[in-house]
Amino acid sequence: MDPATPTAAGNKSVVVVLGTRPEIIKLGHIIRLLGSAASIVHTGQHFDTGLSQVFLEAFGLPAPDAVLGVGGARRGIQIGRIVEKLDSFLRTNSPDAIVVQGDTNSAVAGALAANACDIPLVHVESGLRSFDRRMPEEHNRVVADHLADLCCAPTEVNRSNLRDEGIPEDRIVVTGNTIVEAVESLLPGPDRRAALLVQHKVEQDRFVVSTFHRPENVDDPVTLRIIIDQLAHIPVPVVFPVHPRTAARIQDDVGLREAAEQLLMVEPLDYEAFLGLAAECAMLVTDSGGIQEEASILKRPVLVVRRSTERPEVLGTFATRVEPGPQITEITTNWLAALPDLHLRLATIPSPYGDGTASSRIVAAIPRLTKGA
Ligand code: UDP
Repeated sequence: MDPATPTAAGNKSVVVVLGTRPEIIKLGHIIRLLGSAASIVHTGQHFDTGLSQVFLEAFGLPAPDAVLGVGGARRGIQIGRIVEKLDSFLRTNSPDAIVVQGDTNSAVAGALAANACDIPLVHVESGLRSFDRRMPEEHNRVVADHLADLCCAPTEVNRSNLRDEGIPEDRIVVTGNTIVEAVESLLPGPDRRAALLVQHKVEQDRFVVSTFHRPENVDDPVTLRIIIDQLAHIPVPVVFPVHPRTAARIQDDVGLREAAEQLLMVEPLDYEAFLGLAAECAMLVTDSGGIQEEASILKRPVLVVRRSTERPEVLGTFATRVEPGPQITEITTNWLAALPDLHLRLATIPSPYGDGTASSRIVAAIPRLTKGA
């Protein structure tokens, strides 16, 4: 894709608001397709090199047109600061539409600012519901969906959630999830994957990749200790790229630090390295949203350690959900014993997240709601 190619958005100007790693991953292809029509506003929610810069570069995206620099404040302050700064940016630039993605504070703040400035709003990855009101993300996604003029629902399950909340059909489009094209474009080939195995001192199908960053799992040291001890008991090595939030919790607690030394702890990986390892591993153990989707594309089983999930499409096929506790070791050990048949079976199941055309469907749908279209 050439970023300079004229796009389905025509001459419309579109502000794309993002602030975290998964938003860059899932908006990367949309921004490239929008080409010169797109302005990127980075809120600064996670503006460090490992979680931001390397992902912008991986997708060949330009530096953001604006960085709001809100930093890691608590939720209400962060949302408030983004809305205020975005309001100024939008009033100066008067775009034809705003795109936000997912369920972050940046997404809900982008939605609120678009609404306050009377600019049409596109919500990418719309209609996901965990029905778990303890999660701030659930509130963020509900607000963004109800403010959106165009709800881009990855699956029919998501469309049905939106309908159930009274969102009219003409505001919904089912697109697939843009994660499919993200994985397809950045999954490294066999040579790079072999090099990654050597670098991390692991063997194909004989290691686990694990990530944890959700407050419900990492903020309480007792819960985090249960998870780390369980991971340490899995009978193959566990590669553990540590999210900055989790790293801070481990750093604060000597017991957690010692327990975590039994894992192969690494800094957050760039996207290509993460996908390469995920494609070669025996299984994934995570509380991430995006990794549940990636497992269905890479055909790997994923153990989701969460109280709830907003991605029921993969439950019973690629994903099993448990709460922190002994089931983590039990289930992963059973899965290890079931290889390679388990991988062969998963390889026959299509991903529920579409065929890699979500980004182009979304870009094609934008002109119909921009002013003057
Ligand atoms: N990821 C990555 N490097 C890592 C860990 C995760 O590139 O070291 C990617 C992963 O492939 C997924 C995304 O980051 O696409 C998930 O981000 P995160 O778990 O932070 O957010 P969530 O998906 O839960 O919103």
